[in-house]
Amino acid sequence: MEGTIFDIKHFAVHDGPGIRQTIFLNGCPLNCWWCHNPESQSKNIESFIKVNKLDGKEFKKEVSVGYKITTEELFKIIQGDQIFFEESSGGVTFSGGEPLMQANFLYDILKVCKENIINTCVDTTGFASEETIQKIAEIADCFLFDIKLIDNELHQKYTGISVDEILRNLQWLDKSNKNVILRFPVIPGITDAVKNISEIKSFIKSLKNINQIDLLPYHNISNGKYSRFNKENKMKNTEPLSDVDMLQLKSEFESIGFKVGIDG
Ligand code: SF4
Repeated sequence: MEGTIFDIKHFAVHDGPGIRQTIFLNGCPLNCWWCHNPESQSKNIESFIKVNKLDGKEFKKEVSVGYKITTEELFKIIQGDQIFFEESSGGVTFSGGEPLMQANFLYDILKVCKENIINTCVDTTGFASEETIQKIAEIADCFLFDIKLIDNELHQKYTGISVDEILRNLQWLDKSNKNVILRFPVIPGITDAVKNISEIKSFIKSLKNINQIDLLPYHNISNGKYSRFNKENKMKNTEPLSDVDMLQLKSEFESIGFKVGIDG
């Protein structure tokens, strides 16, 4: 099978257990205001005019985001890091974008990894049909599952889609006792609102088997990308939360019995 990916990160330490290789698949059905990879949201290989500035002059260059790769080609790259996976109890993480958007390709590569006893994680928004999530859950070892906003209107506003399907899929994974680590992007002024934190805490408290959440601090490192790729940046004046605020949030989630990490 053939899929489209736009990046591969070797020796990743924040994308699941142990040392990991993270593979970024093109395409995302969401359009989050704070997206770090806005150039990869299309499932197709897109070309952009990248604008670089030097000494007050603008230099424009056409760049493509993403390339086609077969399951066999990708697996060879994964295998190159297998020794590090074995030594660190790590593995490979499929991220994006939203990897479930290329569900058949994802299933195919997950199957080859399983046959070769390589641990796999799927880093997902959870936005997919029930059939898709259930099919991938048959074969993936772990999900890194984003939880952003519980209020549907706010979710629609800041990501462009409804939260209902996402929460339903999360409840199904929990009920089916799948291995899930939640991930909460802490976006100042949006997801860190007192009401949202309280709603997330009460939603995740109702889960029976999931008990781990990683807090992902907002960074404004992507500001340059928005201007380079000529995309509107709605977060350009937003500053990251302080370490003290992140630690305060960590204790809030620990107080409901969750194991909490701060990543990135
Ligand atoms: S889910 Fe992730 S990749 Fe998709 S738009 Fe949001 S931040 Fe970007």
